[in-house]
Amino acid sequence: MTLRPTVDFLLHDWLHVETLQQRERFADHSRETFDAVLDTCERIAREKYAPFNRLVDTQEPHFDGERVILPQATHDAQKAYAASGMLSAAQDYDVGGMQLPYTVEAAANAFFAMASVSIGSGMLTTGNANLLMVHGTEMQKQVFALNEFSGRFSGTMCLSEPQAGSSLSDVSTRAVPDGADFADDPLGPRYRLKGNKMWISAGEHELTENIIHLVLAKIPDENGKLVPGTRGISLFIVPKKMVNTAGELTGERNDVALAGLNHKCGWRGTT
Ligand SMILES: Cc1cc2nc3c(=O)[nH]c(=O)nc-3n(C[C@H](O)[C@H](O)[C@H](O)COP(=O)(O)OP(=O)(O)OC[C@H]3O[C@@H](n4cnc5c(N)ncnc54)[C@H](O)[C@@H]3O)c2cc1C
Repeated sequence: MTLRPTVDFLLHDWLHVETLQQRERFADHSRETFDAVLDTCERIAREKYAPFNRLVDTQEPHFDGERVILPQATHDAQKAYAASGMLSAAQDYDVGGMQLPYTVEAAANAFFAMASVSIGSGMLTTGNANLLMVHGTEMQKQVFALNEFSGRFSGTMCLSEPQAGSSLSDVSTRAVPDGADFADDPLGPRYRLKGNKMWISAGEHELTENIIHLVLAKIPDENGKLVPGTRGISLFIVPKKMVNTAGELTGERNDVALAGLNHKCGWRGTT
């Protein structure tokens, strides 16, 4: 792999990334800690990703009617990625993160993108959990985001629909309050969602105990109609399997059904 000299040049000679250490948040970091992260990611990418890039292309995900089957190599790669701590690299120390500057995190993730973009790293999971850390309630952070950072759960973003790609104001997934006491759920106001999503990367698999979908849907107006445009759009946490307030699976499967798998050009190994 010849990526490392380029990454080193960009980070150190061009961006002088070690000057970030002057900021309080990154005070414990140094060239050595940045190098340690890059070394780890380079090694995992070389050992667990690159050798299987072709395999995951030829053994595409398939659905046996109940589960989506992925090659063992994908399971091993994702476990190694989660164990490296990269899912929560930018997070605070007190939630198990490394307080790593984003510049270094992005550079370290380049090794995985180069070794096998198709096996994927934790981009969607990290993005999903980061969003919850900024916008979620304390309970939502504990139950969903922290379990994503540890690699126990994974995350998706469910924006697109068969008829709504770039034009997200056209989403027609509906969200209606679930019962008179819908606002009383400790995990947040509870809605029932109905609709179709499409092209959802890592939308179904058995790589993790649970999948936390972040779903764009519209809340109808007082006449039960969806308002055209962006009004009424909100974002909902939809776990594949229901969880309680301690983050434990209740044993109940949420009503999310896989309609089919798409072949993604260049990304065949990802559902
Ligand atoms: C590999 C892959 C992974 C994906 N993963 C996810 C995922 O995880 N979650 C998810 O929600 N979605 C996902 N998507 C869907 C992705 O978000 C959509 O493909 C994207 O939003 C574009 O929508 P579309 O394909 O329907 O194209 P369209 O919106 O129909 O666009 C088609 C063409 O028209 C152009 N166009 C569209 N609107 C305008 C306009 N107003 N003015 C001028 N030109 C315009 C576009 O630039 C494009 O060239 C994924 C797609 C791919 C290819």
